[in-house]
Amino acid sequence: MSLARGPAIIRNLNRFDVLNTIRLHDNQISRSELAEVTGLSQATISSIVSHLIKEGALVEEGSHPLAIRGRGRPLVSLRLAPNYMHVAGVKIATHQIVVSLTDFTGNVLTSENISCEPLEFTASHLADFVAKAVRVCVKKAKMEFSDVSGVGVGLPGYVDCASGTVYWSPVFQSRNVEFGAMLSPKFDVPVFVENDANLVTLAEHWFGLAKGLKHVSVITIEHGTGSGLIINGNLFRGARGIGAEFGHTKLVFDGPPCQCGQNGCMETHTAGFAILREAQAVGFRIPAKKLDYHARLDLLRKVVERAENGDQRYRKIFQQMGQYLGLGIANLVNLINPERVVVCEGAVTCSHLYGESLRSTIREMVIAPLRDNVDLMIHHWGDEVWARGAASLVLQELDQRDTTPVRQVLSVPKAAKRRRRRSVKGEK
Ligand SMILES: [Zn+2]
Repeated sequence: MSLARGPAIIRNLNRFDVLNTIRLHDNQISRSELAEVTGLSQATISSIVSHLIKEGALVEEGSHPLAIRGRGRPLVSLRLAPNYMHVAGVKIATHQIVVSLTDFTGNVLTSENISCEPLEFTASHLADFVAKAVRVCVKKAKMEFSDVSGVGVGLPGYVDCASGTVYWSPVFQSRNVEFGAMLSPKFDVPVFVENDANLVTLAEHWFGLAKGLKHVSVITIEHGTGSGLIINGNLFRGARGIGAEFGHTKLVFDGPPCQCGQNGCMETHTAGFAILREAQAVGFRIPAKKLDYHARLDLLRKVVERAENGDQRYRKIFQQMGQYLGLGIANLVNLINPERVVVCEGAVTCSHLYGESLRSTIREMVIAPLRDNVDLMIHHWGDEVWARGAASLVLQELDQRDTTPVRQVLSVPKAAKRRRRRSVKGEK
């Protein structure tokens, strides 16, 4: 049996390469371009493409942009068929759960924001809640759950996607939660649990500022500081799935306490809670009672406002944040030499306050050969990024795991099977 697996694995990898390449080319590419970009032969591309068309995953269109420029045989564009597959994405944050449904191209069909504090749930109740929320979201899109091919769940903390284990997360009271195992029985489709910053990284890599790049570092700044790495075009996870925890790299001995339980982590100088702590030190009043996410956000916005109004004590807080972030990014650049570093801001935008000190620290600390080539981009993300990230995760995993033999289309997803049945019956 093991002899037969070799070619099957290669076929799956080739199939994944083809689908991935189409996505990275704005969902429009010709067969010859596919061969050129993937390095696969024309014959292999033809075989894979024809099976993907038969499965309903790809459609042909005769309007490729190159067709009007060239002579001879017109080029046929290949596109992903949006309705071939639908996936559900869930983002669990400390203050809310966002559930969304996306199609095969990553377009968000529907999205649901539920305000709640997951920390008040037990892990098993949270799994029940997520399962119900996904079904409600699917219903809202006027679809059946059997139309969904996979579920991707993102949450902050140390997450091993391969096993579904959450070693630590601010949304759980306990450590080492087998969250993937709790969720799986509630869905009859594959479920993938992943660190939320990795979802943002995948979304940036498939649709955003890191699109198609080989080596990229994505850093998220919100209540915590997260990060993801794309190395050689793939998400880097490390040996136990929790590589690239940039926010918990250490900057100082005996530094401020971090939410992870240790001290002196990067995020104790760069995340929202760090800004509030520094503001309090210069006299900003923070109520002693326990604050929820929205109350903390309001306070953070007030701190930003004071800095914007020119109060030097508050401006210094953000300058210092830029320096620490710059120090960490310089170390990262010196370590992995990425093509680009993308800093993504969440609900609060403050890069106009820390951007200058961030860039000057990077210039100062990156080694000479790389100093002039640091490509740093900062942008603000919307809620949609989580949904697209979850979609990227699920589609990527399903594309890679697909065991459809090239000559026998056996494991067509249910939605595609139904569509095929409908088309046989002549229904729309
Ligand atoms: Zn930490």
